[in-house]
Amino acid sequence: MFTKPNRDVDRVFLHCSASDNPSHDNVATMRQWHKARGWSDVGYHLFIRKSGQLEAGRPLEKTPAAQRGNNRGTIAICLHGLDEEKFTEAQFDTLRSLCVQINNAYKGDLTFHGHREVAAKACPVFDYKAVLKLDRFGRLGLTGAAVQDLVDTDTRVPDDMPVLRRGCRGPAVALLQKQLLLKDDGIFGPRTEDTVRDFQSAHGLARDGVVGAMTWKKILDNDHIEHFDE
Ligand SMILES: [Zn+2]
Repeated sequence: MFTKPNRDVDRVFLHCSASDNPSHDNVATMRQWHKARGWSDVGYHLFIRKSGQLEAGRPLEKTPAAQRGNNRGTIAICLHGLDEEKFTEAQFDTLRSLCVQINNAYKGDLTFHGHREVAAKACPVFDYKAVLKLDRFGRLGLTGAAVQDLVDTDTRVPDDMPVLRRGCRGPAVALLQKQLLLKDDGIFGPRTEDTVRDFQSAHGLARDGVVGAMTWKKILDNDHIEHFDE
C-alpha cells in the first residue's frame, strides 16, 4: 500500500529502463548503474518488473534523481523495458494500481507525466497517457474500480493471497508461476492452469485449476516445488 512521504509532492514521473535484458529486470541492477554514476542510490523510487512485480528503490522520503531540473516535488517510477512492444500487461496493471493509490493518497491533487515531457528523450517509450487515461493536464482518468489490489507478495500469507484463476494477471500470478517454475510473465494462461491442476493432483487437492487458500498454502509451504512435465 502506498504511503505519502512527508515531503511535498505534486508530480509523478514515469520512466523506462531502456533495456529488455532479463538480467537487468530488477531494481538492484538500476541501483548498480546509478551508483556507477556516482549517485548515492538508485534514482527511481519504484521499479516495475516485466512480471508486474513492484520493487522499492530510493526511499520515497528522498527527492529522486531522475528528471534533471525537475526532481523536487516528484515521485519517479521506472518500468523495465526498451521495445514498446515488449512491455507487459502485468506491468501496466501494476502501474495503474500504483498510480490510483498515489492519486487517492493526494486526493487527485497531483499530475502524472513522462520523463520526455521535461527532457529531449524518448523516455518512457510506451504510451503512458493511454495506459493511465491521462487528460491533457496529466490528471489520472482511472478510478479504483478499474484496477486490481496491489498484493504484497513478500508476506506470503495464504489467506491474504488473492484467488487466482485463468485470465488473472499481475504480481501474485508471477509469484505463483515462479513457485511452479514457470515463466513468470504474470499472465494466468492455459499452461499455468495445466500446471496448477497437476500440482493439485499431486498434493491431494481438488483438481480445479483455481488457486485458493488451500492451494496457496501447499505452494507457499514448498521451498522446492517439483517441475511437472507431462
Ligand atoms: Zn527517464
